Amino acid sequence: MRDLRDMWEIGGLVQDQNQDRVADQVNIWFDLNDELHPEGLIDFCARLGFETTSLSFDFLQENNRYSNRLSFVKDEEETYVEWNLNHLLIYYQNEEAVSILLRFLAGKWHRNFVGDVPVKRIKLNDSEIWIEVEDGNITVSPVESQNTTISEKIYKVDSLTKVWNEIGFMHNEKASPINNHHVLFLTEDTLEHHSWIEIYYGASRIGMESTALSFPITGKNSTNALTFQFQSREAENASIQLDGNVIQFTGASKSLTNAISYFFRERHWTFGGHFGSWEQKFKKLDNKDEVLFQVTWEDEGEKQELFDKVEEWNRYIEDKKDLDINIFISEPNVIRDDIKKTIESKFPMANVLVRSAFKPGYFWLTEEVLPNLLKLKQQIGSVVINCLKEERADGLELPIRWIQEIYPVDEVMAKELQIDSCFVDFNLCESLDATYEVIAKDLDGNQLYENQIVIPVSKVPYVEEGKYSYPTTAHLSICEGKKQIVQHTFQTDRERFYTFYAESILSELWAKTDRTSANGGFTRPLFDRIEINVEMSEEELKLPVGEERISSLEALHEDLYFNTLDYFLVKGEQTVGNGYTSPGGIYPFISVREGIKPKADITAYKWIDRTKESILTEQLLFNHEQRTPIEVKYRFGKGQKLMNESINSHVQVEKLPDDLPRPTKAQFHTWIADYSYRNKPIFVYEIVANTEETYYSAIKLSASKPTILIETGHHANEVSSMPAVAELIDEIIEKHPYITENMNLVIIPRANPDGTELHKQMILDNPEWKHHAARYNAVGLEYSDVRYQDTIFGEGNVVPKIMNRWAPDIVIDNHGIPSHEWTQPFAGYHIPPRFHMSYWIPNAMIYGISRMLNQKTYPEHSVVLNKITHGIQQKVKASKLQDMNNYWMERYKKYGNQFMPELFPIELTEELIFYKWETKTDSTSTSAISRFPEWVSADLISEAADETVYGDALDSCKEAQKLFNLGAIEWIRSDIQEVYKNYDLEGIRIERSRPLKVPVTSRILS
Ligand SMILES: [Zn+2]
Repeated sequence: MRDLRDMWEIGGLVQDQNQDRVADQVNIWFDLNDELHPEGLIDFCARLGFETTSLSFDFLQENNRYSNRLSFVKDEEETYVEWNLNHLLIYYQNEEAVSILLRFLAGKWHRNFVGDVPVKRIKLNDSEIWIEVEDGNITVSPVESQNTTISEKIYKVDSLTKVWNEIGFMHNEKASPINNHHVLFLTEDTLEHHSWIEIYYGASRIGMESTALSFPITGKNSTNALTFQFQSREAENASIQLDGNVIQFTGASKSLTNAISYFFRERHWTFGGHFGSWEQKFKKLDNKDEVLFQVTWEDEGEKQELFDKVEEWNRYIEDKKDLDINIFISEPNVIRDDIKKTIESKFPMANVLVRSAFKPGYFWLTEEVLPNLLKLKQQIGSVVINCLKEERADGLELPIRWIQEIYPVDEVMAKELQIDSCFVDFNLCESLDATYEVIAKDLDGNQLYENQIVIPVSKVPYVEEGKYSYPTTAHLSICEGKKQIVQHTFQTDRERFYTFYAESILSELWAKTDRTSANGGFTRPLFDRIEINVEMSEEELKLPVGEERISSLEALHEDLYFNTLDYFLVKGEQTVGNGYTSPGGIYPFISVREGIKPKADITAYKWIDRTKESILTEQLLFNHEQRTPIEVKYRFGKGQKLMNESINSHVQVEKLPDDLPRPTKAQFHTWIADYSYRNKPIFVYEIVANTEETYYSAIKLSASKPTILIETGHHANEVSSMPAVAELIDEIIEKHPYITENMNLVIIPRANPDGTELHKQMILDNPEWKHHAARYNAVGLEYSDVRYQDTIFGEGNVVPKIMNRWAPDIVIDNHGIPSHEWTQPFAGYHIPPRFHMSYWIPNAMIYGISRMLNQKTYPEHSVVLNKITHGIQQKVKASKLQDMNNYWMERYKKYGNQFMPELFPIELTEELIFYKWETKTDSTSTSAISRFPEWVSADLISEAADETVYGDALDSCKEAQKLFNLGAIEWIRSDIQEVYKNYDLEGIRIERSRPLKVPVTSRILS
């Protein structure tokens, strides 16, 4: 049978309703009459709340949800407590005596107080506590040995809405798993019954929200403590007034009860409640635009120049026989056919070839070589493509650029030739008479075919002085027999526009940006955004290989975006000694329009400094009629001017946007962590073991079991993680329910709503491009750079708030990489030089990155990380993704790693690519594990090949994200984590040891 020792244990006055070994409800109702209001019951309620992770305000009245009942029985002789079956009986002589007993039970009593003997009674005898066991009494001093205590914690409260906010109850500014409190409740006998009830409830909620709480919280004085003072006064209205570290509740009966009730019951507006709702409007920014400059650009275009040149040379060629007219032009196949027909009709005797000036090697192999091979009507055994090594010293091109430019021709040719793609191979040649030479052999190794081609290039300055790119370009040459008569190299439409942009627009943008602010270009943009609307006729071709496509305008999109970034990086280095990382939003909107002359329209918008004014709520007024406040006094803005405002009793609740992915089966809680720069609410989902309770404490839940944070949609063009995590939550509930038993899950379902909005606009024209320009926020800022800075870019505040609210053990940031080739002809064909690792083609369908602390200093973190990487590896290995990973690994080796292993690195954990980035601890870092190494166990990034994919490809990426997240967490078991409870003079404390404990034998639970 249970005895008084079990009072504060599960099965005692608290209960575990969902079998996760964590107390999640109170398990007692109080039989209170309106005569007796012991102060010590405040302590008792605080302790009751402390012992649970969630509760409801329904235990101060008869309630059959709870197995135990607490009754007070007046007794002339003695004050003591007994627990008879489900009845906790407190006999009392007077209110003062019962408070002393209650304070003892709240502040000192615990399971092992007297050792392993059943306790029959706990009695107050004069000023001592007697604990009655089988064979006698144990005497201890009661809890109030001192009259005055000093709180070590200094409370600096500048606003009532910082007492309760979206983080919880009075968290320190610095995130921590510990939320320790020293509070004091000062009451008066004249308070009416309903006010007392609300005070008792309030104490229980504060207890629940604390991981360490000093006792007693009544019946004494306490310096520095956060003090709640309740005073009954005859007055029309009641008020809650902030005065230093004292929160005063003053007023007459009903209105005072309304005030107390509102303060302790009402949920914060970010959770759909009313509390603090008058501050909501100040969380949004005004978004007026101011144009910096606007320019339009038009050009006759490459096609016109070609025809003009042919016209000009007419006199050299009209009477010639045996003519070869070779043209390279950056136009789609249909237009190139038209050009060919037009020229052939002029020169019927000539042999006219109109080739693509974008990826010309690829088109030569597929449009000319391949049909010739098929015409041989012989089984081809192998095809070898010899590619000239690129060696221009001032060029950004990689030595393998000519191999890159034919990607993925091996698969395309192999399919047509009905051979395995490993039999279409290439060599990197130091010297070759041409750019490419192709040799095809039969199955016995006899040569069947040979051909070669020279590809023209131009020279275009890169945004960094002294660096150039040598993109393939437009070209016209006319030969008579073997003799070249004339030749002309000219700019493609892309080169025309890019050159104009680089020469005129970038310099104008630079000249017109405001660079007076010290953090301009870093945590504050130099311009709001530049919109580059381009229309051009170019090749847009989907290939029969995975997600591959040939799109010269997607390449231009990437060039405009990244080269603008690089331009400002260089400018920053030149002017302020540090490369600008956040110049502003760069929005290339490009429309592919067959046959038109190229044109563009560019508008740059000015950066306008905005501030989120601080608002400090000092007073709330209540009347006796309504439970929400009628008026608020707050200090606002820089001048801290005191303002009066009446308060609307209705709150405009922000609904989840229709297109925001969410679980459909799992129960989840939502809150608005902040608003994005463009005023979109950023929601957080919290998934915890289900309970029936009204309130739960994030920090208490985290003290009881591990917590996982998963951020999705960080880079908005990386599209798979947002729908994937919503699905994962449902799958966890349905198939892996032990996960919510073992941990709390916190999800950012769309971390970057402004980026997502921009991405939405960009995919209207070009649904399958990568759209890197939509990865950052509205003004082109990598918002994780401004974390922990209380920035106006609300997207940067979300993770810091979650770190503070939950103190998660594992932080996972779901990302993505291109699903197909990423090329930038004006940055050396390869991706921009700023990247030290190649993302030119995917290296895997899914791979991982982890920030890794020094293994010697943090050996336990290292054990956790090994467990995680192994867990993910096992998940991927058992799925179809392993084949896809193998496929990409082979492609990555064939096209990159075998030639340049440093730029195309492969770092394997068993069979999975997992890069481990060595990370130093740094209390100012924006990365979780670096900033909080004492309590963050792992800091992970997933990368799925998902940059704007749909259908089956999206499904594979979602699967990849799900397996990654699942593999990273499903090994976690709460029962082996050590949760300590401490009882000392200071009070009580609950703490879970960090970092996470790893099970010794790996048991796959499923
Ligand atoms: Zn990313």
